[in-house]
Amino acid sequence: YFRDLYTLSATLDTDVSGEQIIFINNEWVNSASGKTFPTINPTNGKKICDVQEGDKDDVDKAVAAAKAAFKHGSPWRSMDATKRAALLNKLADLVERDRVYLASLETLDNGKPYTAAYAGDISGVIGALRYYAGWTDKMTGKTIPVDGPFFAYTRHEPVGVCGQIIPWNFPAALVAMKIAPALACCNTVVLKPAEQTPLTALYLASLVKEAGFPPGVVNVVPGYGPTAGAAITNHPDIRKVSFTGSTEVGKLIMEGAAKSNLKRVTLELGGKSPLVVFKDANLDEVVEWAHQAVFYNMGQVCTAGSRTFVHEDIYDEFVKKAVARAQKRVIGDPFELKNDSGPQVDNDQFEKILELIESGKKEGAKLECGGARLGDEGYFIQPTVFSNVTDNMRIAKEEIFGPVQQIIKFKDMEEVIARANDTEYGLAAACFTNDIDTALTFTSRVEAGTVWVNAYHKSSVSAPFGGFKMSGIGREMGEYGLAQYTEIKTV
Ligand code: ADP
Repeated sequence: YFRDLYTLSATLDTDVSGEQIIFINNEWVNSASGKTFPTINPTNGKKICDVQEGDKDDVDKAVAAAKAAFKHGSPWRSMDATKRAALLNKLADLVERDRVYLASLETLDNGKPYTAAYAGDISGVIGALRYYAGWTDKMTGKTIPVDGPFFAYTRHEPVGVCGQIIPWNFPAALVAMKIAPALACCNTVVLKPAEQTPLTALYLASLVKEAGFPPGVVNVVPGYGPTAGAAITNHPDIRKVSFTGSTEVGKLIMEGAAKSNLKRVTLELGGKSPLVVFKDANLDEVVEWAHQAVFYNMGQVCTAGSRTFVHEDIYDEFVKKAVARAQKRVIGDPFELKNDSGPQVDNDQFEKILELIESGKKEGAKLECGGARLGDEGYFIQPTVFSNVTDNMRIAKEEIFGPVQQIIKFKDMEEVIARANDTEYGLAAACFTNDIDTALTFTSRVEAGTVWVNAYHKSSVSAPFGGFKMSGIGREMGEYGLAQYTEIKTV
């Protein structure tokens, strides 16, 4: 695939130079307003191409198509469950066929290393489609004993038109994570990709059509959050909205859903996840896990291990090794296979991260390495490590979403669990220890939707994912993820 990669990376700029358009009812349409917006290559800050900008009128059109596709008697509603599985598997086959192109497009638009896009993100797309294809004919109800000469049973029915709003950090993988369970349960979808990274979602839409999904089952409307996103949130004919993004916007989604039509809401939001290193842990191994926990995907992961708590007995040695590891990270052109990291996704994120780094310096954390921009083109930031971080500093409290590691000292288990939980977030957590009692105590007491022991960032399409507290509502992926896309009817 190396040859393909180099051919593509050389030609991709021209491949996508045409305007990208909105996908409604299996057709490509221009925006009702005639407006477009540019999508930017974060490696050099230059425009890749213009994209038709969807807004309320376009969302209305997409919802009308999705609603028609959902009608009883429509090709989609009357399709056998096994045929729905075949369509999802066919879509996965097409993603496999076009894997190099999709991975290249993802790297171009998002800036993530091509190797990660190819091996991680696009595998995630294929995995989610195939996993949920397997569920289509396995959603069984129950027969329930009730008093009297009656019997009762339950049916799992689709919810209806589902609005799905996704962010820019895993643009293609999140399309699959959202549409696969929705379609497995026979819903129809109106999806809005993030304005920073609309390209892979639009390409996937072309594969949806090629796979043979009936018109209106999947619609993709690129555009901005407060316009196209809000139109989805507030739409009276959308029955459910699934959102991945910031906690701040998650609140707006829930409010809009409540005020409009009480549409069902699934939220996957921010985090400030604790990674706790107990003194009996294998130090060299933990340094690597803790490094990847925060630097993977340029730190742009909602589960990033961005509070590294280290026991005081091993603190100094850990800091030394963590700094040496961060300094070895290779940053640059994400199409170069040797590079571990590319740029941050856009100028806003870039500025926000640099501002938070400045706050860390001002508030008295010790800057061990990095702390500034890398180069003078694109949105690259040096791998940054802070030691002597205390819980009250902004870098220990706010989600940074960048390549910045906070190393914090602790003394004992009770104290560190209390401090780990002292946040409104509750997405993920990890502990590193060789003691089973320590691991079991930590995993049972920490408030987080996912807890890792001696590992980090391990996820699977078959295991549920979501947040405690203000990190979200509901679970995605796995069998639990299906619950969000069905209504239970008692007969
Ligand atoms: P991030 O901080 O990761 O960019 P956001 O929560 O701002 O996360 O964005 C995630 C997604 O939510 C994007 O698709 C964005 O366009 C959308 N969005 C932003 N604001 C709103 C809003 N007011 N209503 C609906 N969607 C929104």
